[in-house]
Amino acid sequence: MVNDSHPVTPSLEQRDRDSLLHPFTRADDFAAGRVPGQRIVQSASGIRVTDAHGRSVIDGMSGMYCVNVGYGRQAIVDAIAEQASELPYYHIFAGASHPKAILLAEKLIALTGGRMKRVFFGLSGSDANETQIKLVWYYHNVIGKPQKKKIIARQRGYHGATTMTASLTGLPNYHSGFDLPFALVKHTIAPDAFWAPEVDPRAFSQRCADELERLILEEGPDTVGAFIAEPVVGSGGILPPPPGYWEAIQGVLRKYDVLLIADEVITAFGRVGHLLAVDGYGIEADLITLAKGLSSGYAPLSAALVGPKVWQALQDGARTHGFFAHGYTYSAHPLGAAAALANIQIIEEEGLCANAAEVGAYLLQQLRERLAANPLVGDVRGAGLLQAVEFVAEGPPRRRLDASLKFSAQVAAFAMEEGLLARPLPVNDIVGISPPLMLTRSDADQVAE
Ligand code: PLP
Repeated sequence: MVNDSHPVTPSLEQRDRDSLLHPFTRADDFAAGRVPGQRIVQSASGIRVTDAHGRSVIDGMSGMYCVNVGYGRQAIVDAIAEQASELPYYHIFAGASHPKAILLAEKLIALTGGRMKRVFFGLSGSDANETQIKLVWYYHNVIGKPQKKKIIARQRGYHGATTMTASLTGLPNYHSGFDLPFALVKHTIAPDAFWAPEVDPRAFSQRCADELERLILEEGPDTVGAFIAEPVVGSGGILPPPPGYWEAIQGVLRKYDVLLIADEVITAFGRVGHLLAVDGYGIEADLITLAKGLSSGYAPLSAALVGPKVWQALQDGARTHGFFAHGYTYSAHPLGAAAALANIQIIEEEGLCANAAEVGAYLLQQLRERLAANPLVGDVRGAGLLQAVEFVAEGPPRRRLDASLKFSAQVAAFAMEEGLLARPLPVNDIVGISPPLMLTRSDADQVAE
């Protein structure tokens, strides 16, 4: 019998449903408790997260592709705490700065071998990409090509959730309901070799470049300002570039004087086995976007790295436009900068890029061996510790599973029951895996199992 004088305290799950608007979550179903996988994460250590009921699982997603050094790193916690007591906040507008901002900017420029000339700090991957687009427009205005304003992105790319970056994102289910400003955004094909008809991956890479060239010519080369792309596609399906892809694409960009923005929000800081993925794939970017692994998520921080051409235009443009009219109250937030410096030190000292490459190759091999005979597994792919399993209907011929099955969500739910947090990706039937970079071989065995 219910005793009305002692109302039942609502669970944390209920209170969550009653108070938050969650990103990328169906509002009606979630409010009604119909979204599977609701979890309140309370604490974390190493590669594991623990929920409010004390259940611990391997975090096969590093939070949201960001906790590269793993959880519970005291050196980062101490760096943040020391910074908070010394200088919790200061801005960097109009000549102001602070030591951690300077140290970190110097460090990031050094990581590019000096190829990048300046660092603009923000708080998220979205705002950093937003900055990059403004820089592209500014650049073309200053060099006297104000028509070059269109930005080409790729289908399946993810670049953020602000109005412009959501438009750049090439995932239609992330566009619905918003009337996004697409006038200056065009999308070219994704480097998805798995579904490409070409048997020779180099032939497919060439077709990707040909398609890009066709689009530039169709739009008019004098109207196309930049191409933005992730070195390895992340949320849109984890697609490592097929051989020859970046070489062919950059040939087209150079031919038509189109700037290249490398969106390294997921790929940098060891995720695909290099500090910067541009170095692993021979990409010469004019602008590079960093976030996530920059601070391993211990504090929000992003960076837009500015190459020499754009930096020159920023200096020349000042004569016409005065001060550079862009920035955020929290640009180069001292806590984020302190966290990032401690984080990068760990990545370097522990050799986490090399570990991601080595243990990543081992994990991929384990997954392939275990899943090879499964007729529903179409592809097991990845770069470093950014990996995916793509499911298909039993064939041949190769074809998609019935979307209404939501098979990848079922697989992720099953993995969760077995103690692994993996992510159903928002396209096709793909489950992503992106564990912290200090993963050991025996951890990799557990993930694969
Ligand atoms: N770019 C890429 C490649 C991303 O994966 C993401 C986020 O997942 C973003 C940009 C946006 O970053 P944020 O969510 O920090 O705004």
